[in-house]
Amino acid sequence: MFRQTKAVLQKLRSVSFYGQQSTWRLKSTSAIERASQYRPGQKIHGFTVREVVAVPDLFLTAVKLTHDKTGAQYLHAARDDSNNLFSVLFRTTPMDSTGVPHILEHTVLCGSEKYPCRDPFFKMLNRSLSTFMNAFTASDYTMYPFSTQNGKDFQNLLSVYLDAAFFPCLREQDFWQEGWRLENENPTDPNSPLVFKGVVFNEMKGAFSDNERVYAQHLQNKLYPDHTYSVVSGGEPLAIPDLTWEQLKQFHATHYHPSNARFFTYGDLPLEQHLKQIEEEALSKFERINPNTEVPPQPHWSSPREDHVTCSPDALAPDPARQNTLCVSYLLGDITDTFEGFTLSLLSSLMISGPNSPFYKALIEPNIGTDFSSVVGYDGSTKEASFSIGLQGMAEEDTERVKQIISQTINDIIESGFEEERIDALLHKIQIQMKHQSTNFGLSLASYIASSWNHDGDPVELLQINDSVAKFKQTLKENPRFLQDKVKHYFKENTHRLTLSMSPDEVYLEKQAKAEEEKLQKKIHALSDSDKKDIYEKGLELLAAQSKTQDASCLPALKVSDIEPTIPVTPVQISTAVGVPVQYCEQPTNGLVYFRAMCSLNTLPEDLRLYVPLFCSVVTKMGCGGLDYRQQSQQMELRTGGMSVSTQVVPDSTQLDMYEQGVLLSSSCLERNLPHMFHLWSDIFNNPHFDEVERLRVLVMMSAQELANGISYSGHMYAMTRAGRHLTPAGDLNETLGGMEQVKFMKRVAELSDLSQVIRTLVRIKKHLLNPDNMRCAINTTPQKMSDTAAQLESFMKDVADNRKERKPVRSNIIERPLDPSDVSGLSRKLISEQNFQPCQMKTFFQLPFPVHFISESIRTVPFSHHDYASLCILARMMTAKFLHGEIREKGGAYGGGARMGGGLFSFYSYRDPNSVQTLSAFRRGVDWAKSGQFTQQDIDEAKLSVFSAVDSPVAPADKGMGRFLSGVTDEMKQNHRERLFAVTHQSLVEVAERYLGVGQRTCGVAILGPENEAIKKDPSWIVK
Ligand SMILES: [Zn+2]
Repeated sequence: MFRQTKAVLQKLRSVSFYGQQSTWRLKSTSAIERASQYRPGQKIHGFTVREVVAVPDLFLTAVKLTHDKTGAQYLHAARDDSNNLFSVLFRTTPMDSTGVPHILEHTVLCGSEKYPCRDPFFKMLNRSLSTFMNAFTASDYTMYPFSTQNGKDFQNLLSVYLDAAFFPCLREQDFWQEGWRLENENPTDPNSPLVFKGVVFNEMKGAFSDNERVYAQHLQNKLYPDHTYSVVSGGEPLAIPDLTWEQLKQFHATHYHPSNARFFTYGDLPLEQHLKQIEEEALSKFERINPNTEVPPQPHWSSPREDHVTCSPDALAPDPARQNTLCVSYLLGDITDTFEGFTLSLLSSLMISGPNSPFYKALIEPNIGTDFSSVVGYDGSTKEASFSIGLQGMAEEDTERVKQIISQTINDIIESGFEEERIDALLHKIQIQMKHQSTNFGLSLASYIASSWNHDGDPVELLQINDSVAKFKQTLKENPRFLQDKVKHYFKENTHRLTLSMSPDEVYLEKQAKAEEEKLQKKIHALSDSDKKDIYEKGLELLAAQSKTQDASCLPALKVSDIEPTIPVTPVQISTAVGVPVQYCEQPTNGLVYFRAMCSLNTLPEDLRLYVPLFCSVVTKMGCGGLDYRQQSQQMELRTGGMSVSTQVVPDSTQLDMYEQGVLLSSSCLERNLPHMFHLWSDIFNNPHFDEVERLRVLVMMSAQELANGISYSGHMYAMTRAGRHLTPAGDLNETLGGMEQVKFMKRVAELSDLSQVIRTLVRIKKHLLNPDNMRCAINTTPQKMSDTAAQLESFMKDVADNRKERKPVRSNIIERPLDPSDVSGLSRKLISEQNFQPCQMKTFFQLPFPVHFISESIRTVPFSHHDYASLCILARMMTAKFLHGEIREKGGAYGGGARMGGGLFSFYSYRDPNSVQTLSAFRRGVDWAKSGQFTQQDIDEAKLSVFSAVDSPVAPADKGMGRFLSGVTDEMKQNHRERLFAVTHQSLVEVAERYLGVGQRTCGVAILGPENEAIKKDPSWIVK
């Protein structure tokens, strides 16, 4: 639970919308109206109302309050959205790198006065219908948010959150488990060597195995060298063992105090109720203090600085000879100046986003590096913002050239400014983002206002985005050189700038290991024999505590009977446009039209399948019709909310050896721009450009770099995909399109000196994929716009009719499934059936330069419609909560682990795991535990709540009906599945564990990603990659 600091357009991107279809618009504006009745000066439950502001553009009313006795700050955003959110934020400004705020974030979740059981958050996941629960440690704050659609659940969760944050137990044992400890490697053997253990210790070792993260951390530390931003708030692995339990408790007392807290609530539940509960359960028990947590301004340097750091070499780098990173970072103004922050983040987008931006042209296109540096653009997550620009994946000898280009580009911008059309496109984008409704709007708002509010900026001003837009337009009108002046001031004339380079060091990991060993030996050296005995005994105590069955009965809980018995129906209409099947879904989309199309891969020769992800990532980015790629990008920004293509592998709901394969076209636009959007799609269908080799090379490099960077973050997904490879035909295709096989393939493509063969392949793929004969479409828009949209879709289909070609599928075993089971129109999806598929067992090990492992074991079970599927879903959830979490995270020290059911596979996984094959035995013990039936009805009910909170998570108007469109699963089938979930019993759980997960009856695959492993190398049953 550690927040990653990524910068680009972060603030604007996080503003996206939610409005639940059933409640919003229909229910008029009750929550908003209620909130607008409050008056400044009014006293409510110990709080005083300070400000009431309507923000019509976001359909909300903001109420700002302060708590009289403690000075706690409060913001409520009333909106007719049932996905209510609560968050409490503390300003946490550590002055060392022991990770004290991060370890505190973990330990407050180990039990509190009213709820003394361990890990109440994790347990509440199974006792609630929450749509989100988490905790984040940022550089200068720690935040605890949750959301739920159920009023009773809101009160329950609020009670648990308040008690955890304000009255945690903070036991010494919690500190050892979550922070760090010395312990015998094997806790039951006093003669085994002493090692460092602890959840955060391992988590941070894992986090710093990611070179992008290493770079971002150094950059922040060095750009702000004089206060809290010069330390690692998450914890520097080797500094973590300097933290003491006393220091941890002290940090809690001074930072987790109402006088240092900011509360935020959002949604349609009444504000008074929240205030009353917060006052009674927490705030009334405190007196005001002066928390003294302000961050002073960073003193400005009188001249620029340079620095250099090292990292581990990347085995998957697209070009091993080019692994350097270089970027220049500038200190900007205070983020509490809302308009300045808005202006600078817009300016940043103009400078770096998309192929029309000056830095893209100057730095990316000459192909000096693989992509922008991992930290790039405006970053408003620190008290004073920063802007960074640079490259990763570059050669060392290009250092001077890159520096030169950066300063030259800044001069060029000051000289010639930006085209008006690009500014319009950016403002259009903000408009779309404000109209688009997402399912987690409350959470987006909470993180959007967090940084500025944390430093006493005005959160209400931040919400008034349209005011900033208007002021921006006015300012630009009055002074056309407004942006150029900013560039001159903040970049050219700014002496507080840092040039930081990073290069790989062959012995980096060795050095790290050696430093850790030295630290360990120093600690051990200081121990007496009785200390060692003490450590051994404490280790046993911790093990015993972890193994004890936990009584969670102190925690509040919803009941299975609180779950809605039926799902709301989403009506869709199925029809055709020039012979192509179309699904229409009427939704309150707030003036936007969403167009999607699924194009089948069935006629594509199989040797081309590896190229399909590349095809998807470039087909909308290389130019089309009369537009070159720059003009195309410009038109897409000016007229649409985005146009993209992605691969789809959809397992059949009734048979494991059947699946549908295709690519999904996704796009959205304002209603008035629909003809423009279809025109762009027509050009892509009729005349996509693939011929520009240099453009292709840039895109290839970026894709390969992105894949290589993603592994240390999503390693468990890669392990699961690989483990499922030989178990079903869909699993095999998943590995080809999105697994380690694809990562390695893209690395090979990036290494090719001649891309002409790749270009010929893309042209061939286009003929097979962009073919109306192989296609079906989906439209989501308002009822008022539906018939016009249908007419325009019809004319789009006529425009692309020439691409229609009847092609033979490459496999003969094609099965047709009706799009609408109740309809006999004959419209269908075409699935591939591989009845002769032979699943086989395979154990694969990928040796990678990580200090931790990602492990998965996958077992072939049954498809969605099978009556055992529901029991397997509940079983996976229950094993995770009641067994695997304890074994893999608490005892094993991994960051996470569990089991899940999907695509007919039951998959175990672990994430950032210090163990390798030992974790496989933990999976097996989990199976034994399930078969033994040693779980209670309470355990089962909790697993049901947890599964239902996922099943019933809100769906945005843009995505309604999409599950059905893609997988053919109708509301009726979902309702059947729902009823089977309710009906799962103790007996059915034991039965499915025996039937599918038992040794000898299973067909399973195993995959591990991790560091060099002698045991695995010697074991011939493993394939080592
Ligand atoms: Zn964490």
